[in-house]
Amino acid sequence: MKPEKNKEGDKMEKETCTFSYCEKPEIVEHDTDLLLIGGGMACCGSAYEGTKWAAADNLKITMIDKAAADRSGAVAMGLSAINTYIGENTCEDYVRYVRADLMGITRDDLVYDLGRHVDDSVQLFEEWGLPIWKKGDDGFSMDGFQAGAAGKASLRDGGTPVRSGKWQIMINGESYKAIVAEAAKKALEINREATGVDQNLFERVFIVRLFKDANDPKRVAAAVGFSVRENKMYIFKAKAMVLAAGGAVNCFRPRSVAEGQGRAWYPVWNSGSGYALGMQAGAELTLMENRMVPARFKDGYGPVGAWFLFFKCKATNSLGEDYCADEGYLKDAREKYGKYVDGMGTTIRNHLMLNAMKEGKGPIMMRTDLAMQTINKKFIDELGEKEGKKKAKHLEAEAWEDFLDMCIGQAGLWAGKSVDPAKEHSEIMPTEPYLLGSHAGCAGFWCSGPSDIPGTPDHYHWGYNRMSTVPGLFMAGDICGASGHKFSSGSHAEGRIVAKSAIAFILDNPDFVPTPRKTADEMAAELYAPFEVYEKNKTYSTDPEVNPHYIKPQMLQARLQKIGDEYFAGISTYYMTSETMLAEGLKQLTLLKEDSAKMAASNYHELMRCWEQYHRILSLEAHARHIRYREETRYPGYYYRGDFNFIDDDKWKVFTCSTYDIETGEFTMSTREHKNIFPD
Ligand SMILES: Cc1cc2nc3c(=O)[nH]c(=O)nc-3n(C[C@H](O)[C@H](O)[C@H](O)COP(=O)(O)OP(=O)(O)OC[C@H]3O[C@@H](n4cnc5c(N)ncnc54)[C@H](O)[C@@H]3O)c2cc1C
Repeated sequence: MKPEKNKEGDKMEKETCTFSYCEKPEIVEHDTDLLLIGGGMACCGSAYEGTKWAAADNLKITMIDKAAADRSGAVAMGLSAINTYIGENTCEDYVRYVRADLMGITRDDLVYDLGRHVDDSVQLFEEWGLPIWKKGDDGFSMDGFQAGAAGKASLRDGGTPVRSGKWQIMINGESYKAIVAEAAKKALEINREATGVDQNLFERVFIVRLFKDANDPKRVAAAVGFSVRENKMYIFKAKAMVLAAGGAVNCFRPRSVAEGQGRAWYPVWNSGSGYALGMQAGAELTLMENRMVPARFKDGYGPVGAWFLFFKCKATNSLGEDYCADEGYLKDAREKYGKYVDGMGTTIRNHLMLNAMKEGKGPIMMRTDLAMQTINKKFIDELGEKEGKKKAKHLEAEAWEDFLDMCIGQAGLWAGKSVDPAKEHSEIMPTEPYLLGSHAGCAGFWCSGPSDIPGTPDHYHWGYNRMSTVPGLFMAGDICGASGHKFSSGSHAEGRIVAKSAIAFILDNPDFVPTPRKTADEMAAELYAPFEVYEKNKTYSTDPEVNPHYIKPQMLQARLQKIGDEYFAGISTYYMTSETMLAEGLKQLTLLKEDSAKMAASNYHELMRCWEQYHRILSLEAHARHIRYREETRYPGYYYRGDFNFIDDDKWKVFTCSTYDIETGEFTMSTREHKNIFPD
């Protein structure tokens, strides 16, 4: 059967939901001033900071999370290091480090702004109860509990943290997110009592769409979503919104297969909503071609940062050679990617590792055994046999805690394979790609920066700090573009920056009364269409999972991941793509987008899964269109353009930007000039 042409751009087919087959949800309308979408690190920062600035004018703040804020977002499982703490370093150097790791193109203003605010967030975390490692009097490390018991000074009072790298500090962080969320929830409660609303924290509510305003077509009036537990649709009307719903995972076929598919590096619940919601509202994207391909312990996706930085561990090819020092690889890389190679950033290290893998010199080995032997010897040499062994044992326990804190699955995998990393090396592997604008990634929205940094060009600063090109729609954390390496602390700090400027925006625009262009019934018809499609057609086949009239979210995901993987530089092509592959992949993705009008859900969880897939489709499409537009290989080791396998600074040292038209489904691509505000 010929597929019907979807004339509605990226919207679901009109006829789909008249609630003839599925039950209409209860519709709850909620009015607020500042709406926070996401309950992760950034929005927790916004809730905390926003409450202070909202108090004088009694402004209402509301936070929504698809999960429960105590354990939601990328920090859910806990972390063992805070990766951005400036401390004794300078913000200028932080800018240089971030820019170098992201191959020369970042927004110095945003990075500097974050650097000058981030330490205050970390010091607050410690005050709220997060144990932070400190240097002992003997120069050795004390974990957070030992330091607390020994009465070591807090960071704010001049305590010296244990650094695992120049910018990272060690923590006992299993409960990191719960601690940060507690402060955010407390702040929201203060705001709720002051403003007299019944509720201002909505958990287990999944936001599907932002709807435009009826009177001001540039602005968004409402965020609309549904409860994943009961039959309720929510319309949140707000004068300003902070969007911080994280990046996108599972757009590409993962290395884990079958029942292992739930394993990924990026949190599986950050499904591209951050990008999709902003794109659909018309916010301009930047550097969406960028992605993150972290090298992690194979299969468990366990973190390697502490091993590399703190335990001074080396990675080698299977012959024990340092592939990052291979003269042949380096010469070839310099010819293609020039001066960026010697910066030895994340992408280049990946690139050199891939060279070794392609030559059959894998598996790539993390020499955890050698690192532990060296540490043991050093401790015994310096402290004597008994004390040295005791200290080394404690450190080994900390190494295990590193995994139990933030990736318990890795510890399980080692136990299951009878591997003791202190005695045996372990394999590492570059993962499938993820889209995010933090960590060693910078894909996100083009936002206005601060106004007070000398040398900032006008096109970096046109409005309120961290406001997107849609007035009143602010971005933070993993989706604020061109400014990576925020990590957990920086995302919290950015959330605080954003809340303050969003409140200034609300106060400067007092007459705006959010009025969604669509009626509640129209919104409900769109959101609940997958229920109607399912109920209408489910008896057509004997197995409701397989049916010619609809597609279940799991199948849709399989198709999406296959397209991403095979055409847009996933693992199966060693991250290689080209104009012809991108063109074919985009053709197939367009068909998938059309077919998404037939998504079907049999329960609330599947309804969420349907919309998650839809958000992934949009995120992946933006990613592919940006890769196609940038005719060079800016991020070798993350992806390669086989037809433009070089860096071309003369033409492409620019920000690539795009806007998405929800009515036509079309992207408009452009570039913006890049400037180093701080010299190299
Ligand atoms: C595996 C991993 C390891 C990391 N390790 C470290 C580390 O060691 N140290 C460090 O400092 N940083 C680390 N980071 C970085 C840090 O965790 C992130 O940069 C930070 O959490 C980003 O904050 P955010 O608020 O943008 O996103 P998140 O904290 O991920 O929050 C996103 C929120 O949006 C919600 N959400 C998503 N979609 C919707 C929707 N449609 N509707 C409603 N809510 C939605 C989610 O439930 C979540 O609450 C790590 C990140 C990852 C992924």
